[in-house]
Amino acid sequence: RPNGQKAELLPNGKRRKIAMMTSGGDAPGMNGAVRAVVRSAIDEGFDAYCIYEGYEGLVQGGDLIKKMSWGDVRGWLSEGGTLIGTARCKAFYERPGRLKAAKNMVINGIDSLIICGGDGSLTGADKFRFEWPGLLEELVQTKELTEEEIKPFMHLTIVGLVGSIDNDMSGTDVTIGCFSALARICEMVDYIEATASSHSRAFVIEVMGRHCGWLALMAGVATGADFVFIPEKPRADNWREEMCTIIAKHRGVGKRKTIVIMAEGANDQQGNKITPEQVKDLLADPKGLALDTRITTLGHVQRGGSACSFDRTLATLQGVEAVRAVLDAKPDTPTCFIAINENKIVRKPLMKAVRDTQEVAKAIQARDFDRAMGLRDTEFAEIYASYLITTATSLDKALHLPSQKCMRIGIIHVGAPAGGMNSATRAAVAYCQTRGHTPVGIYNGFAGFTRHHGDEPLGAVREFDWLEVDNWASKGGSEIGTNRELPNDSGMATVAELIAKYKIDAIFMVGGFEAFHSMSQLRKARKEFPQLAIPMALLPATISNNVPGTEYSLGSDTCLNELVRYCDTIKQSASASRRRVFVIETQGGRCGYVPVLAGLNVGATAVYTPEEGISIDMLAADIRHLRKAFAEDSGQSRAGRLILVGEKASSVYSAKLIADIIRTEAHGRFESRDSIPGHVQQGGTPSPMDRIRAVRLSIKCIEHLEKFAGASARTIADDALSSSVIGIRGASVTFTSMEHVESKETDWANRRPLEVFWADIEPVVDTLSGRPEIPRPE
Ligand code: ATP
Repeated sequence: RPNGQKAELLPNGKRRKIAMMTSGGDAPGMNGAVRAVVRSAIDEGFDAYCIYEGYEGLVQGGDLIKKMSWGDVRGWLSEGGTLIGTARCKAFYERPGRLKAAKNMVINGIDSLIICGGDGSLTGADKFRFEWPGLLEELVQTKELTEEEIKPFMHLTIVGLVGSIDNDMSGTDVTIGCFSALARICEMVDYIEATASSHSRAFVIEVMGRHCGWLALMAGVATGADFVFIPEKPRADNWREEMCTIIAKHRGVGKRKTIVIMAEGANDQQGNKITPEQVKDLLADPKGLALDTRITTLGHVQRGGSACSFDRTLATLQGVEAVRAVLDAKPDTPTCFIAINENKIVRKPLMKAVRDTQEVAKAIQARDFDRAMGLRDTEFAEIYASYLITTATSLDKALHLPSQKCMRIGIIHVGAPAGGMNSATRAAVAYCQTRGHTPVGIYNGFAGFTRHHGDEPLGAVREFDWLEVDNWASKGGSEIGTNRELPNDSGMATVAELIAKYKIDAIFMVGGFEAFHSMSQLRKARKEFPQLAIPMALLPATISNNVPGTEYSLGSDTCLNELVRYCDTIKQSASASRRRVFVIETQGGRCGYVPVLAGLNVGATAVYTPEEGISIDMLAADIRHLRKAFAEDSGQSRAGRLILVGEKASSVYSAKLIADIIRTEAHGRFESRDSIPGHVQQGGTPSPMDRIRAVRLSIKCIEHLEKFAGASARTIADDALSSSVIGIRGASVTFTSMEHVESKETDWANRRPLEVFWADIEPVVDTLSGRPEIPRPE
């Protein structure tokens, strides 16, 4: 169990009760949060309750406050919206409403509340806790309750979870639901782009976000839109000329489509609203660009549907953390909410975050836009800057470095394809061009480099042209081609010779474990081949997420989304046809990241990883658990179950063999099948997260390489960071030298990092699926 601590009893000897509520606008992932809170609360020894219809349920009480059992939240991970309802509740804004709510809490014996909602909901929650002692006192004075009744409930514990598609809460990088909404938007923009391109049309697309431009900006970055409007950074007063100039420039280089993305709250710097109609009229002006222009308002499709993989992870892990925060809370602990910074889930004081969030809206109203941008997390401003660079709006020479600092940067993909490789390349090319560097494509990895460099007319080494890469933002696969071959196999001498021949001053490598291995070989070969004393940066990209030096590789999010969609479909089939267990084999090499995270996000009954292996005792225990679980399902229940097996979890127990064993042992009480999604897991269109991170991280890589521009070979060879890997580690983005990572952090035999952050997640999968203690292989 992740946490041995169990809830103590209340002073009246009764079990503590945690209630979960969703409030404000619905957001995908809320159901995952409810499931996680209910199940981990039960696991920690609480009784779990749900308050239906948000604060309305708390004020009205009665049937709207329900005790929840383990089975009540079965299958909720894949459901969109919120199954416990949400409502805007006028009564809760006023003290009498909150008084009723307090009484309902006490008479139901609830001492802790976990609320998933936006800043409004969480402000209300904090106010409720602040007033709590006074509310109880008043209830006793008015004889609604007795001293005896309120005594066990003198301290109210409240923990916030931020559920909002807008991502408008300060203090957390993202909120539950925003990546699902972004995925929906990007999917729609991808569809629109196809028709825009066909007819050479312009589209003005309006997305949600009254005070927050996160969705609009991220959609712009992920789809490579031509222009975006966001509330925090209104364009200058001459936005009309600015927009038309940029779009004319894009059309000038041959682009056939024009996409403008607007947040609902788009304003000019004077605070005047900018409408999609105004933008359309401008683009369509016969005396100007004269583009055939259409408006699409995406509206509520953005809220709808099943949560994406990341939102399920976030909702689940934050739900579990919220219950732990309740366990840890003391009477004087300030109310906290659960946030995420980069890859780290943390507790933070609620009121500061609420105040900062409200400050953004105030700053926008007061037209203090620098302050508004400053109050958003640093990533937001960084991505805005990246966006401006990748729209190639700065192809003028204003930002060019002095010529002696300009480099020829070779871009190469190594290993299997992964979502985001093309976006990374596109962004790197755009950044290089903005700064006056020459980006050079090395086609088809080291194999292409060394064997086809003389081929005409294309050759394996070519300078990039902007129009060629401009539409790569949302493309899957690898447009410059990727190859698994390592430089030592291709011939290191040839590689070094070619680097000199093509005057490559720096290397930007994108790829998985083979890329990591290649970088290591290049670094080690510097002694023998001085041509290799050039700066090199590796951006990890592999669905397996097994590259040491980072907790996240490009493409791993795309893979999980594909797998989650696949598992949801299979689970539906498993439930609909008969009582069935599907044993699904996942990719991921000798790293258990993919099966564990997918298992967390689909609610797998068991996950088998290469790290742990599979033993006969484990299988036997899981089969006993399955028998019991199916026996306990009610007669009407046609519940399907999933077991996820990493492809290299065992050399003997394949998914098929496991399914066969389960079927035999089920003695007809339930069915079993195996299923292998295979290369589907590499994904078609990359997920928005992979695309955005590709942009952000690749620009950082080129900036890193830039630091070595003009340095002597000696200086470069002596600086360990001249060959490094960029990574997201905990709450920060860092470059770590290859020398350090390859010698201290790498399990070379198993092609994975020595330590993994997700080791803590594995037990959560088991806890939330109710898996009993399993005998682990020796
Ligand atoms: P979204 O991001 O979707 O707007 P939200 O949580 O900010 O979500 P609100 O409509 O602002 O949505 O708040 C939801 C409910 O929370 C309100 O209907 C009300 O019941 C309660 N609430 C909001 N603000 C307060 C407040 N200042 N005091 C008391 N209760 C509040």
